[in-house]
Amino acid sequence: MGIVEEAWERSETERILNHNVDIVAEKINLDHEMRTFLKVPFREIKVQIPLKMDDGRVEIFVGYRVQHNQTRGPMKGGIRYHPQVNLGEIRALAAAMTWKTALIDIPFGGAKGGVTCDPKTLSKGELERLTRSFITRISDSIGPNLDIPAPDMNTNPQVMAWIMDEYSKRHGYTPAAVTGKPVELGGSVGRIEATGRGVTYLTKRALKDKKIEIQGARVVVQGMGNVGGTTARLLTDEGCKVIAVSDSKGGLYNPNGLNISRVTMHKEETGSLKGFSGADYVTNEELLELPCEVLVPAAMECVIMEHNAARLKCSVLVEGANIPTSPEADNILADKGVYVVPDILANAGGVLVSYFEWAQDLQSAFWEEERVNRKLMKMMLDAYELVKEVSVQNSVTLRTAAYAIAIEKVSKAVRLRGF
Ligand code: GLU
Repeated sequence: MGIVEEAWERSETERILNHNVDIVAEKINLDHEMRTFLKVPFREIKVQIPLKMDDGRVEIFVGYRVQHNQTRGPMKGGIRYHPQVNLGEIRALAAAMTWKTALIDIPFGGAKGGVTCDPKTLSKGELERLTRSFITRISDSIGPNLDIPAPDMNTNPQVMAWIMDEYSKRHGYTPAAVTGKPVELGGSVGRIEATGRGVTYLTKRALKDKKIEIQGARVVVQGMGNVGGTTARLLTDEGCKVIAVSDSKGGLYNPNGLNISRVTMHKEETGSLKGFSGADYVTNEELLELPCEVLVPAAMECVIMEHNAARLKCSVLVEGANIPTSPEADNILADKGVYVVPDILANAGGVLVSYFEWAQDLQSAFWEEERVNRKLMKMMLDAYELVKEVSVQNSVTLRTAAYAIAIEKVSKAVRLRGF
């Protein structure tokens, strides 16, 4: 490992991401220069965010935007608000966006941002001021041809509307500067559901490939945010039996299936899954180990690791979350015969519809939902088929195949443009 890489490798999430890159780099004989170039981000921004709280105090938060690579187009990736946000995590997630956008072949590079905060303790006014303050500090480094933020954990269309407004105050009306906006402000129909919809399409296709009946297939979903919530609902509509779901505190389990709309209502009304009748309350660790056909981690990274991978009892693992599985866990799952649909493929539906949104904004011409969903389905399934083909041809996992396709594409582009 060179000095540069040593200086940059810091978090577990990064270790996992870089390990996945290294596996492919070895296989395709990527030279040292290119390997280092692709692992080290283009630019990292860390800012102080003073926030006037509702009670008049000023609290200082820290925000990050990591821009990983822009060889194939403007950098693209979400902004998350979470107490565990740190530079190493954001750096790894930014790189994952480069590989994701290359894999599904949309003209973007990768970026990610975040603010270390607990949004659950902030009022709506505080969230708005925090967002505006953050964007003020990074607004010269983002833009429709440079770096385009989007929603991620604990951020939503309202937050994107504030970002659009703050950016537009400085640069003129620019809806294409951010995606995942409300439809009224140039957002795309279908964007909110897009990640969960993509996960659903690929889950169905994976079940078919594994010759598992979709009707009644038992599904466990970790996370009841936008991705987990949408996936649970759409897979129920497809006839699957969602037997467990969770939020950050714990989960609900009923082997006979959960009524997802009732669970969602309960969570909206009480702010928690606890107290829902007709299901057992389980921990997030227990939830991952429930017997099922499909497991969908759709929350944090690093949840399927060496210590628990052997205890997983799913046939198919569809990674709705980014970077949920470590390389050690991957090996254990491969030995167990678990079919893993990797994150950069499985959850790419979100950024794919973000691309549609950006393209619509640049043209000020808007699509119908049927067109959005049709193109989403086609591009997700095409990417899946390509990954499967490369995986079969080279006897590698779907993850290694997905990374190989992405890395070949980006490194070719880098060679053409020059470092
Ligand atoms: N945050 C999402 C992701 O991790 C979406 C990013 C985007 O739409 O730019 O892929």
